[in-house]
Amino acid sequence: MKVMKFGSGMRKIAIVGSLHGNETIGKRVIEKLAHDPGMGASIKAIVANEDAIRAGTRFVDTDGNRCFPGKRNGNVEERMAFGVLRELGGYDDVIDIHSTYADMDDTVIITRRRSLGLARMAPVGRVVLMSRKIAGGRAINDFPKRCISLEFNRNRSVGHVSEVVRETVDNILCSRRQAARKRYYLVNGLLKGDGRPRNMRNYSLVKKGTAIKLDDGQVMKSGGDFYPIFLGEKGYGGTICMKAVELKMWK
Ligand SMILES: [Zn+2]
Repeated sequence: MKVMKFGSGMRKIAIVGSLHGNETIGKRVIEKLAHDPGMGASIKAIVANEDAIRAGTRFVDTDGNRCFPGKRNGNVEERMAFGVLRELGGYDDVIDIHSTYADMDDTVIITRRRSLGLARMAPVGRVVLMSRKIAGGRAINDFPKRCISLEFNRNRSVGHVSEVVRETVDNILCSRRQAARKRYYLVNGLLKGDGRPRNMRNYSLVKKGTAIKLDDGQVMKSGGDFYPIFLGEKGYGGTICMKAVELKMWK
C-alpha cells in the first residue's frame, strides 16, 4: 500500500485506487493527480493492492473489495483492507476508482443510500445502488461515512478518469450537484451462468420472457424485466451479469 498526500484546503477527501491489482488505472490516475497543482482539497490518495499489481493479478489471496473491514494479521488482501480503513480515519468523503472489462458507460457504485449525495457530484450518468445481498457488506463502500466507487471501461484513458475524479472533487468543494441528468439503478440479483449472451447489452432493458441466447447455443428465459450491468466483466466467476431495476423516484 502506498499513501500520498497532496493538494491543499480545509476539506479532506480521500482517493483509493487499485483495490484490484489488475486495475492499474487507479494507480496511474493518482500519480497524475499528485502532480496537478490545482487540487483545492487536502487529498490523501491510497494505491491499495500493490502486491497484486506486482503480481499482475486481480488479487493475491481474496477479492480486495469483498474483504473489508479486513484483519490486522490476515492474508494479503485482509491486511490491505485493514490498512486502508486505518488510513481513511477522519476522511468522510472517499472516491474509489475501478475499471472493468464490461463494455458499459461510466458508472458510480454505492452500497448505502447515505452516499447518494456524493454520487450526485460525480460527472457520471449512471448511479447504481448495490444491495447488501450482492456486496455482502464487505466492500470498501460499506465503511467510510460517504464512499463512491467509480467504474470505467478498461479502455478509458488516464486523462478521462483523472478529469472525472478532479471534477468530483471540485463539486464536493462547492457542494454542487453535477448538472447532467442521471439514471439510477438498484442491483438486486445476478444472472448466473458461464456463457456470453449474444442479444444483451449493458443498460439495455431485457424484458420478462426474453430468450437470452448464449454463445454456446444455450437459451435462457428471463424471469422478469431487468437491466444488465457488468455484462462482460471477467472478475465475477459464474456470473453472466448483475441484474438491476431502474429507480425512477431518485430523479
Ligand atoms: Zn475493481
